[in-house]
Amino acid sequence: MIIQRVVLNSRPGKNGVPVAENFRLEQGTIADTIQAGQVRVKTLYLSVDPYMRCRMNEDTGSDYLQPWQLSEVADGGGIGVVEESKHQNLAKGDFVTSFTWPWQTVAILDGDLLQKLVPELVSGRLSYFLGAAGITGLTALLGVREKGHVAAGANQTMVVSGAAGACGSLAGQIGRLEGCSRVVGIAGTDEKCSILVQEMGFDAAINYKKGDVAKQLRELCPGGVDVYFDNVGGDISDTVISQMNQNSHIILCGQISQYNKDVPYPPPLPPDTEKIQKERNITRERFLVLNYMDKQEASVLQLCQWIQEGKLKVRETVVEGLANIGAAFQSMMNGGNIGKQVVLVSK
Ligand code: NAP
Repeated sequence: MIIQRVVLNSRPGKNGVPVAENFRLEQGTIADTIQAGQVRVKTLYLSVDPYMRCRMNEDTGSDYLQPWQLSEVADGGGIGVVEESKHQNLAKGDFVTSFTWPWQTVAILDGDLLQKLVPELVSGRLSYFLGAAGITGLTALLGVREKGHVAAGANQTMVVSGAAGACGSLAGQIGRLEGCSRVVGIAGTDEKCSILVQEMGFDAAINYKKGDVAKQLRELCPGGVDVYFDNVGGDISDTVISQMNQNSHIILCGQISQYNKDVPYPPPLPPDTEKIQKERNITRERFLVLNYMDKQEASVLQLCQWIQEGKLKVRETVVEGLANIGAAFQSMMNGGNIGKQVVLVSK
């Protein structure tokens, strides 16, 4: 059977900025028949995520990520529908997902590696299983719960960097739902800041590309910062950490401002910031959502409940066509959208 697929065309280089041309659409083939235990699936949605930047390098610099190989099919979070099954628990018409879904229109996959989805949980909006009701939502929820030390009634102020991104936009809302009394976001455009405040219930948002971030942060967090959900690292994080309180907590979610640089993960803090962190006893433990998969089922149910109740507002950009996945990745790495970005491969 002939299929379309997207392969890694070139590497951006360890310190390079990734572009759409790093990927290539081509024709391929898959077997006409499937074996026992396998399913043939039609791909519906694929996810583009910042961690994929590390997979574009020959060495990902991480023990849990494998590099993509040149001229081989890329993969990541995906959703599809079963077209034919020789797996005992999966039937034609089932919706399924995997973290290692190949970037191709139709694929033959091992049924044991797929998770069955319940579309009713997201009122049929299947793409949410890659975002707010999937790994992105889990990262925000479990990051806050496992590393945030948020306690209802404790009058805590939370700051979120990368706040208009897929994870950040949920993390701020979850911080509020879990009990923070004040939530302030940091994002890259006025439009993003206004959506954070008017639609997602943040108390305030700072455009880090305009004005004095430290001064605005001092004004907006007069009692200092108790919880910092860090998606970006770099200068923004140094500024936030300098205003954190004694015994406060950093949720070390990601460091996207450093992903095009050849530095270890997590990048070490500059000496002045590290001194503040140590003197004020600020926790900054590494957080990896994949380490908490025993909490996945209950957490997804919680996220879906909040979405259905309207307590968790979700923004999503859907890019149409497998051919545009490289451009979608490039746009996502440049902060081009609000919330989660997914690629619609087939309807
Ligand atoms: P996303 O949707 O692309 O959002 C990232 C946001 O960061 C964008 O909104 C972008 O917009 C901002 N940003 C990009 N470059 C920046 C820079 N140089 N300086 C400041 N801000 C910048 O990505 P996501 O899926 O939410 O992921 C967010 C972070 O979580 C990433 O670091 C990712 O690696 C991490 N993550 C971690 C785990 C885990 O288990 N720890 C799991 C999933 C994701 P603006 O610049 O316009 O604000």
